[in-house]
Amino acid sequence: MQYDLKVFNTMSLQKEQFQTRVQGKVTMFVCGPTVQGYAHVGHARTNTIYDVVARYLSHMGYEVNFLMNITDIDDRITNVAKQQGVDPMRMAENYTRAFLEDMEGMKIFTVTKYERVSNYVREMLGQVASILREGSAYVVDGTVYFDTSTFPDFGKLSHQTHEQLSLRPLELAPKKKNLIDFALWRPVSLLEGKFDSPWGRGSPGWHIQDTAVTLTNLGSQYDIHGGAYELVYPHHEAEIAQAETITKVKPLVKYWVHAGLVKIGGEKMSKSLGNVVTIRDVLKKYDSDALRLYLLSRHYREDIDFEEKDLKRMQETYTGMRAKAKLMEERRATKARRRDSGKVLASFYSAMNDDFDTPKAIEFMQQLITDGSNEKDQNQVELYYESLRITSNILGVNFFGRLQ
Ligand SMILES: [Zn+2]
Repeated sequence: MQYDLKVFNTMSLQKEQFQTRVQGKVTMFVCGPTVQGYAHVGHARTNTIYDVVARYLSHMGYEVNFLMNITDIDDRITNVAKQQGVDPMRMAENYTRAFLEDMEGMKIFTVTKYERVSNYVREMLGQVASILREGSAYVVDGTVYFDTSTFPDFGKLSHQTHEQLSLRPLELAPKKKNLIDFALWRPVSLLEGKFDSPWGRGSPGWHIQDTAVTLTNLGSQYDIHGGAYELVYPHHEAEIAQAETITKVKPLVKYWVHAGLVKIGGEKMSKSLGNVVTIRDVLKKYDSDALRLYLLSRHYREDIDFEEKDLKRMQETYTGMRAKAKLMEERRATKARRRDSGKVLASFYSAMNDDFDTPKAIEFMQQLITDGSNEKDQNQVELYYESLRITSNILGVNFFGRLQ
C-alpha cells in the first residue's frame, strides 16, 4: 500500500501501524509555547515537525483537527513582566501575536485552532474540583496537589515506577503526601494575574492548562499528542493522570509522538539559558524554506545542534534546488497528459511511512530535482515536476515562487 504509515509511540517504544480512532479523521494536540518572549529555533523545529505530520496526514486523505495551546498564564511570564514593569497579560498577548506571525513566516498553516489557556480558567477550576471529588487530590495551605498514589499508571509513558520517579521529587514541599505529587492549583500571593478559586486566590498549575484545552476541544480521547521529549515527565504523565482520572476513559492518547530538541553548543536552546536564536532574526537572513529544510534534515526524534554555518549551507542548497526546479517548470510539457507519479514517488512515500523519515524524503526530493532538470523528454519532465509539486507540498517547501 502507498500509505502504510508507521509511527513511533513513546508509550510502547515501538513503531506502530497508524490507525485513527475514527476512520478518515485525525485529532492531534501539540504543546504550544509559553509566551514570555519571541519564539526561537527550538519552537520553529517542533512546529515544523508537526506541520509536516499534519500535511502528510492530509495528503493521505485524513481530515486533520490540529489543536495547539498557548500558555499565556505562567509564573515565568509574570516574572519577566515584573522585571520589565509591564502588565503580564498585555505582554503575553503581544508575544502571542508575535508567535502567530512567526508561524505564518514559517508557513505553518496546518494548525486548526490555537487556544490561549487564559480563556480556560473556568474549565480548569471545574477539572480540579472534579479530581478532588474523585479523591485523587488534596489541599495543603491553598495548594491543590494531585495524589499520584491514586494513579498507578503515573510513570507509564516515561517507563518508570513510582519509586524510580521519587528519586527526582517534584515541587519540594514538606506537606505533600508523595514526593512526585504535582500542583493542580497554587496560591499566588505576590504576583499579579491571579484568579479566584474555592481554595483561595491563586493560579492554575501548568499541566492542568493542557487538560482543560484538550478535554474541552477534543473530548476524552484523541489520536496524536506531540511536543518535545523533555515534556514526557512530568508534563505529559500529569496530563494522562488528570484526564483519565476525570473521564475514567483510557487511553487518553493513541500515539505519543515526541520530538528532539534544538541544542546550541551542546546545551538546550531555551529562554532560561539565554542562548536563543529567534525565528524572526533567522528569517531576516534566510528563506523560511531553507530553515524548514535545515530543521527537517534531521530525523524528528533526534536532537539538532544548531550551527548557523549549517543553515547557511542549506540556504545555498535550497537556492540551487530552486534554480533547477525553475528550469523544470520552464521545460515541462504543460499539455502532456497527466501521468501517474506514484511510481516515481514510491521511495518518498516509503521514507515518510517509516515514522516520517524526512531526511530520506529530502534526499529523494533533491535527486528528483537533479533528475528532472537533466531530463530532455518534456513528458518525462512533466512527471518529475508533478512529483516535485507533491513532495514539496508535503514538506512545506516552496520552489515555484508562490505558496502551494
Ligand atoms: Zn503542554
